[in-house]
Amino acid sequence: MKKVIIFSAPSGSGKTTLVKHSLEAIPELEFSISCTTRQPRGSEIHAVDYHFISPEEFRQKISEDAFVEFEEVYTDKYYGTLKSEVEKIWNLGKVVIFDVDVKGGISLKKYFGDKALSIFIQPPSIEELERRLISRNTDDAETIKTRVEKAGEELSYAKEFDKIVINSDLNEAKKEIEILIKSFIEN
Ligand code: 5GP
Repeated sequence: MKKVIIFSAPSGSGKTTLVKHSLEAIPELEFSISCTTRQPRGSEIHAVDYHFISPEEFRQKISEDAFVEFEEVYTDKYYGTLKSEVEKIWNLGKVVIFDVDVKGGISLKKYFGDKALSIFIQPPSIEELERRLISRNTDDAETIKTRVEKAGEELSYAKEFDKIVINSDLNEAKKEIEILIKSFIEN
């Protein structure tokens, strides 16, 4: 059966770490590479972490109806899920895993319905989330401020997801997620 796993969370909740762990632990999963208009960060690689494209290319894809969903996650920074990624992964006989923002997660769940398991990763608190963003050391103070403000609003959408996993202990969260995904794939 064609299935998808959706991960959403405020930035800094440990979502990307948990997505990477799931990909390593569960071989049936394949990551859906999104398009974005933001610049690559640190060690990110084009067509591995994201398809890094220009705003013009992004607009072109919107007009071609190439996206399942897309969002302006931050001002002038667009992110979108490609229909072609989902088809490619299903054709490999694999289960798609998405790492998207909270609005995107809700849109994807509406689109895929029972084919989807949507998981919300919740940080223990806003203070802890801010501390993690600072210690990650990949964003400037202004970006961190924007992300923390956005997180407050995003937390109120947790109840729209199939499952909520509170990431206070990373190893516990990894185990919990593995169990959730495996039981969804097997049933
Ligand atoms: P970052 O810039 O930190 O890589 O990502 C910022 C936010 O955009 C994260 O919450 C990430 O999950 C989300 N994101 C990544 N790809 C997509 C996508 O295709 N659609 C949506 N709606 N959000 C995305």
